[in-house]
Amino acid sequence: MSDPAFGERFRVRPGERLRLADHDPAYKGRHTDKEEAREETAHYARRLRELQYLLYAEGRHGLLICLQALDAGGKDGTIRHVLGYMNPQGCRVQAFKVPTPEEAAHDFLWRAHRATPGRGEVVIFNRSHYEDVLVVRVHEWVPKRVWKGRYARINEFEALLAENGTRILKFFLHISPEEQLRRFERRLEDPRKQWKISEADYAERPYWDAYQAAYEEALTRCSTKQAPWYVIPADHKWFRNLAVSKIVVDHLEALDMRLPEPRVDLDEIRRKYHQVAKADPE
Ligand code: AMP
Ligand code: MG
Repeated sequence: MSDPAFGERFRVRPGERLRLADHDPAYKGRHTDKEEAREETAHYARRLRELQYLLYAEGRHGLLICLQALDAGGKDGTIRHVLGYMNPQGCRVQAFKVPTPEEAAHDFLWRAHRATPGRGEVVIFNRSHYEDVLVVRVHEWVPKRVWKGRYARINEFEALLAENGTRILKFFLHISPEEQLRRFERRLEDPRKQWKISEADYAERPYWDAYQAAYEEALTRCSTKQAPWYVIPADHKWFRNLAVSKIVVDHLEALDMRLPEPRVDLDEIRRKYHQVAKADPE
């Protein structure tokens, strides 16, 4: 069921100007609903588990997944879905909040760099170093010449990681303003979700267009061959989960990973500790 063509539809091609208005947040492809997509979703969930095991065992590559979205865009749900099937040993989530005083005392990539995956590891960035060309740009917390320079810094940083064996996949979870408001309302009415609501969420809504413009520029400038951006239709949570896991699986499959050869003579070990003689094939 490997389907590399699937991701192509959502990938931002290097050199091409992204226009989010051309991307339907409610897109669900040939699928009708969650129920109909269940089997395929389960297939990719299983593959994620198997491939993460291989990545960990082989220890040649790291995988860095960057998730960006507006509030209620579905980052937490995507993390639960993608990591939910993996072995916690070898996986980590790194959240990017308002920089701490220590983080703010360093360059903007410092906190990202120290959180990157080592070989064999999977790390998901819940928000990322891109916040420094998104929220920071929208609110003009640094001068334009500063954030403008950051796209090139980000591309160099990601090229460095890629050269060192890190696979980088970046997903923008694209929702509509109407869907965002519905999700806020649901949070407001669901006692289990009320803790998530903050007035800051509503305060960002008037900046919707500024955010779309900031995302368009970031994704246009920073989608590269070695670190592609994907625009994921995210109004339907089940489609979002399917799309992200499918794209991650396709990239991991392309790594052509193998379990390492045993580092010992298995027959000798069997003879020595299990008193089992090697079966004679004759
Ligand atoms: P949440 O992900 O909902 O827990 O919120 C984290 C908040 O931190 C969001 O409002 C982000 O925009 C904000 N944030 C993340 N990175 C930065 C940054 N580099 N500068 C300023 N705010 C940031
Ligand atoms: Mg929030």
